[in-house]
Amino acid sequence: MANLNIDSVKERTFDAIVIGSGMSGGWAAKELTGKGLKTLMLERGRDVKHVKDYPTTNLYPWEFPHHGVLPMDVQEANPIVNRCYAFGEDAAHFFVKDKEHPYVQEKPFDWIRGYQVGGKSLMWARQTQRWSDFDFEGPERDGFAVDWPIRYKDIDPWYSYVEKFAGISGNRDGIAELPDGEFLPAYPLNDVESYFSNHVKANYKNRHVISARCAHLSKPNQIHIDQGRTQCQSRTLCQRGCPFGGYFSANSSTVPWALRSGKLTLRPHSVVESIIYDEKLGKASGVRVVDTQTKETIEYYAKIIFVNAAALNTNLVLLNSTSNRFPNGLGNDSGVLGKYVAFHNYSAHIGAEYDGFKEWTTDGRNPAGGGYIPRFRNVYKQETDFLRGYASGFSAYRFKQHNYDGVGASLKENTVKGDLGPWYVGSHLMGETIPKESNFVKLDPKLKDDWGVPLLSISVDYDDNDEKMKKDYIEQLTEMFTSAGFTNIKPSTNHQSPGLDIHEMGGARMGNDPKTSVLNKWNQMHACKNVFVTDGACMTSTSCQNPSLTYMALTARAADYAVSEMQKGNV
Ligand SMILES: Cc1cc2nc3c(=O)[nH]c(=O)nc-3n(C[C@H](O)[C@H](O)[C@H](O)COP(=O)(O)OP(=O)(O)OC[C@H]3O[C@@H](n4cnc5c(N)ncnc54)[C@H](O)[C@@H]3O)c2cc1C
Repeated sequence: MANLNIDSVKERTFDAIVIGSGMSGGWAAKELTGKGLKTLMLERGRDVKHVKDYPTTNLYPWEFPHHGVLPMDVQEANPIVNRCYAFGEDAAHFFVKDKEHPYVQEKPFDWIRGYQVGGKSLMWARQTQRWSDFDFEGPERDGFAVDWPIRYKDIDPWYSYVEKFAGISGNRDGIAELPDGEFLPAYPLNDVESYFSNHVKANYKNRHVISARCAHLSKPNQIHIDQGRTQCQSRTLCQRGCPFGGYFSANSSTVPWALRSGKLTLRPHSVVESIIYDEKLGKASGVRVVDTQTKETIEYYAKIIFVNAAALNTNLVLLNSTSNRFPNGLGNDSGVLGKYVAFHNYSAHIGAEYDGFKEWTTDGRNPAGGGYIPRFRNVYKQETDFLRGYASGFSAYRFKQHNYDGVGASLKENTVKGDLGPWYVGSHLMGETIPKESNFVKLDPKLKDDWGVPLLSISVDYDDNDEKMKKDYIEQLTEMFTSAGFTNIKPSTNHQSPGLDIHEMGGARMGNDPKTSVLNKWNQMHACKNVFVTDGACMTSTSCQNPSLTYMALTARAADYAVSEMQKGNV
């Protein structure tokens, strides 16, 4: 019996454990196995194998029972996730439904999740921009949160490293606030987008409209072919999972790569309930898992642990990892764990029309989605009554205005014919928000989920800075649209809850001072050296760029450091 137990413990002991198999967890697994570590990846959801488990990927529109639109009863049963634009009949199976995994909203928060191997990397919009020192120096310059313990130079080589493997398309635009990367060819702007880009260049200092940078293989390199991926076919059906591996996901790229090393054990259906802290060793010894199929509780052990459950679930796991040493959550000597949560302000949009270029239309689809306007407010100096700034998307499109008049043959003729209408242009706000102590998550003291894990209670809201920024975005973009000759300009603001931006960050922030932060400059816990947090929970501030590329780069960087520390016997 004793031997059996020893064998069982041995079987459950690894060099490294990665919690979560999504965007950042995939990178942790790839890097750790690549450095020879026997690694266990624990994923709460089911397995989703590349291609095989993309059931809708090759369906024609008429093959969907409801032509892509979810039936009313499904929409009504899922008011939260239904607010996400990508929750349609073709991709609903990748989204967590409202009733499956409840949480507590102290303030309205739309928590959009993907619980499966690959996490949200299957469903994302693939927009990928580097951050710059204007972002990493932001909190110190503008006096909020705490200073980032890293600068651009620390992460620059790691951006290059992950970009080359993931495949990022873009132009080298030479903009200081949006550093260039290791790009595959960009998806070009269409005529009206180019027209606006040229107009802005000619009329505004330090404002740019560039091709959106995105994680698509516009022209694959050998490293992408080695992953079994091929050129993006511009189908723009990405949220279904791509059988070509045309865009980067953990499923198409990092997870199968790590599995091929022979060093990775992938265990789906495994909810990590907590991280086990060993008081004698003074470090974490493993994790406690609930098997969602058997409800059995199992412990796994490892020398290092990477926490990649996505920002808020990482907070949940850490807050739920209590011990005598850490009564308020693992590594929480500072008391800031769960606090300073922030997000992106996506609550405004502007639409308009353009009367020019009537002789042209678009042909084909652009998987990058069009153009991107990097942040231009408060970059070189403080120029407004709000802190920080915003980026925005910009796209122009034209489509046939179908005429459904008539019956029989005349209806058919009218429908097929259709006249091209005007060009439509649109832009949406992507604003930085300021992390604050009053925006936090905590464990609900009473309510538990099906696995006995406390529910996460979320208390996150906009503030006055966000309102002022929104107003400025509307004013500035309206002015830019007007000067470009766009007409019928329609600004609109909405009251979408935080969370729907799906860029929630913070709670276990990085910082130089253990008294005010949870992680050091290597994403390593100040107070528990063999635990690394490299998903959105680690973010000290939010910038206004999309965050996932930064999670990937931070993860690869932290894995490199963790293994070298392990080899030196320091963790
Ligand atoms: C529709 C949509 C559009 C988006 N567009 C963009 C974009 O254009 N650009 C961008 O940068 N980002 C975008 N995002 C956000 C992006 O997907 C996330 O930033 C990214 O996936 C986060 O990576 P992650 O590893 O932290 O989390 P995830 O990719 O969500 O992976 C976390 C994994 O951990 C698992 N897990 C959670 N809790 C536990 C537990 N207790 N035990 C075990 N496993 C657990 C989850 O099931 C999941 O598989 C978008 C997201 C969505 C949904």
